[in-house]
Amino acid sequence: RLYNEVIELKGNIRVFCRCRPLNQNEISNGYNSVIEFESSLDNELQVLSSDSSKKQFKFDHVFRPEDDQEAVFAQTKPIVTSVLDGFNVCIFAYGQTGTGKTFTMEGTPENRGVNYRTLEELFRISEDRGGSMRYELSVSMLEVYNEKIRDLLVDNTNQPTKKLEIKQAADGTLDVPGLVEPHVNGFEEMWELLKSGSRARSVGSTSANELSSRSHCLLRVTVKGENLISGQRTRSQLWLVDLAGSERVGRIEVEGERLKESQFINKSLSALGDVISSLASKTSHIPYRNSKLTHMLQSSLGGDCKTLMFVQISPSSSDLGETLCSLNFASRVR
Ligand code: ADP
Ligand code: MG
Repeated sequence: RLYNEVIELKGNIRVFCRCRPLNQNEISNGYNSVIEFESSLDNELQVLSSDSSKKQFKFDHVFRPEDDQEAVFAQTKPIVTSVLDGFNVCIFAYGQTGTGKTFTMEGTPENRGVNYRTLEELFRISEDRGGSMRYELSVSMLEVYNEKIRDLLVDNTNQPTKKLEIKQAADGTLDVPGLVEPHVNGFEEMWELLKSGSRARSVGSTSANELSSRSHCLLRVTVKGENLISGQRTRSQLWLVDLAGSERVGRIEVEGERLKESQFINKSLSALGDVISSLASKTSHIPYRNSKLTHMLQSSLGGDCKTLMFVQISPSSSDLGETLCSLNFASRVR
């Protein structure tokens, strides 16, 4: 109840900023942190520029290097679990490669991220509500690379990749026909599927890490709910998106395939920024069709759908330029 009241006041778009710790490499190279936090405030930060001027940024929440995965999930939980109340939800991790997008979303076995904690929570709540609600969960996992959609739950190693396109369904919502969407009965089953999807992601690339920074990885959970008392049915979707790295690549350094990739990434990330900022400013025309990413997410962005963007940043003086770009991007969508 309280959460929904807050939503009405503030709209359905949230931006959380998360700053990772300085890493060993940065410390040994003598780089220092250019990010300062206000001790009493959990929603703003300041960036120290090289000319020692300060620039302030405000978000819905700012996570500091010492904030752990649990602290992050505590703020994220009400948004993701609202998919069980019939809301469509999209969560994005945006930022330069190496700032912790995958750490926030996937996490590690020791430090589980948003995806794992969310799925665990969805199954826990649906069991809790078992007396009055019946839920059916299914999952899809896909990758968008160079504006092409690839199903990560299909074994593509020995066959040509099936071409997937976005189509409008009879009820007007957009879908990707042919995308595999297995039903899952429990958390363990779902988690095993997603692990196989993560492995599929690296197939065909020389370095898994390299490719993952240049493609968007999307996890979609579809929830069908039935109220056992009233008979009312709901269908909603939760998207958990680990975006491609937002870093700009120098035109001189790259050519050919790498230049094409970076143009596709720029195009889709700026399309996403345009869509979210038009939603935030309540413009009537929302430019969903400018990229595969936004087109595919159209039914889950806008209206009474809930959107959360994590803007991931590095504290290091060596990343100052990219950090300012990410913070400016995030301020635009807020
Ligand atoms: P990205 O997906 O944005 O390229 P990663 O999630 O791979 O970045 O993070 C880069 C490295 O930094 C990884 O080794 C990761 O474990 C570490 N890291 C990122 N964020 C944090 C954090 N908040 N606390 C501790 N380590 C982090
Ligand atoms: Mg990553």
